[in-house]
Amino acid sequence: MSLDLNGLRAQFPILSRQVDGKPLVYLDNAATTQKPQAVIDALVNFYTQCNANVHRGAHALSDEATRRYEQARDVVADFIRAGSRQEVIWTSGTTEAINIVANGMAQRLQPGDEVLVTEMEHHANLVTWQQACLRSGAQLKVAPILDSGELDVDAFNALLSPQTRFVALPHVSNALGTVNPIQSLAASAKAVGALVLIDGAQGIAHGQVDVQAIGCDFYAFSGHKLFGPTGIGVLWGRQTILEDWPVWQTGGEMIAKVSYECATWGTLPNRLEAGTPNIAGAIGMAAAISWFMSLDVAAVQAHEKALLASATEQAQAFEGLKIIGTAKDKIGVLSFVLDGSHPADVGFILDRQGVAIRTGDHCAQPLMRRLNVPGTARASFSIYNSLDEVDVLFKALKKAQSMLA
Ligand code: PMP
Repeated sequence: MSLDLNGLRAQFPILSRQVDGKPLVYLDNAATTQKPQAVIDALVNFYTQCNANVHRGAHALSDEATRRYEQARDVVADFIRAGSRQEVIWTSGTTEAINIVANGMAQRLQPGDEVLVTEMEHHANLVTWQQACLRSGAQLKVAPILDSGELDVDAFNALLSPQTRFVALPHVSNALGTVNPIQSLAASAKAVGALVLIDGAQGIAHGQVDVQAIGCDFYAFSGHKLFGPTGIGVLWGRQTILEDWPVWQTGGEMIAKVSYECATWGTLPNRLEAGTPNIAGAIGMAAAISWFMSLDVAAVQAHEKALLASATEQAQAFEGLKIIGTAKDKIGVLSFVLDGSHPADVGFILDRQGVAIRTGDHCAQPLMRRLNVPGTARASFSIYNSLDEVDVLFKALKKAQSMLA
């Protein structure tokens, strides 16, 4: 099977719209991906056919909503090769998933303990651990990167010690596209007895993720970066760890027994899912995963590789453009600065030509300081982008450069 790009694009209604009279060229996929009709249909179908609350109704609609919602959990469990469906916790997104883990960890860390992150963190995986350390008295250590935007693996390993209780790092950097060797990094961290969380926000949409093969303890990701709805995401964690993980929020659904004086908690996955969940979101996310899994993953990956290769080649030949992040193993992202221009101005001029990119610090302020840039312009690619669109990006950049000169 190969990728039928026209057929694939036709499944995304938004891709046929115009911006300012120009065809939309959507290159902001690391921020959020567009949604195929299959996902839109799943949401409309839920609200038109079986909207009801889950787990509590004594009626047909509630039973049906519960069945669809719990089937969605199975779809996620299969997709990431979870050990069991109990290991899949619905969250509002990657940020909430990381917060659940950091909140629990903050109750277990002590002065003298260390938490290790990297210089390339998104704020969601930095500030959260920084605050957990401040609350607990543990120390936050930051593994450096090389100028290429690759993790300095020797330095990372040198920072691991018996004091390292937790390691949190990204699968793929949102700002640079660097793919981390998470399997070997997780193995090194486990060897000193640390728990390992992978921020999978950017790693999840580029092929098969096998949490067991990675060897981590937690993997966090968002539906909206994977062709699904916003407001839904997943925390995967090992069952034995999640079973007694400190509860995050309290309320309905997550309890076993309640009196006026005290309460006991339910079992997984409910004990970490208080309140009415994002039912439609979960169903929509499962529809997105099923849609994604119906594609030929090898063809998808080859196409994404070709997009990045073309963008990189054109960027290298573009006078006055500096690529930020030149790791050997990169995916989906071209970050750059144009000599003498602020990234925000570049983004504005591109937008007038229908080209949507993101500019700024990409929620990674310390990383921008480390790389000595105020921010970057970032074009990020997804499976529905075409090589023609990459050409449009560079034509638009030429125009921006001449206007800003
Ligand atoms: N980590 C990374 C690497 C990200 O790219 C993002 C989203 N930009 C997040 C975490 C946070 O994801 P969300 O906003 O969906 O919670």
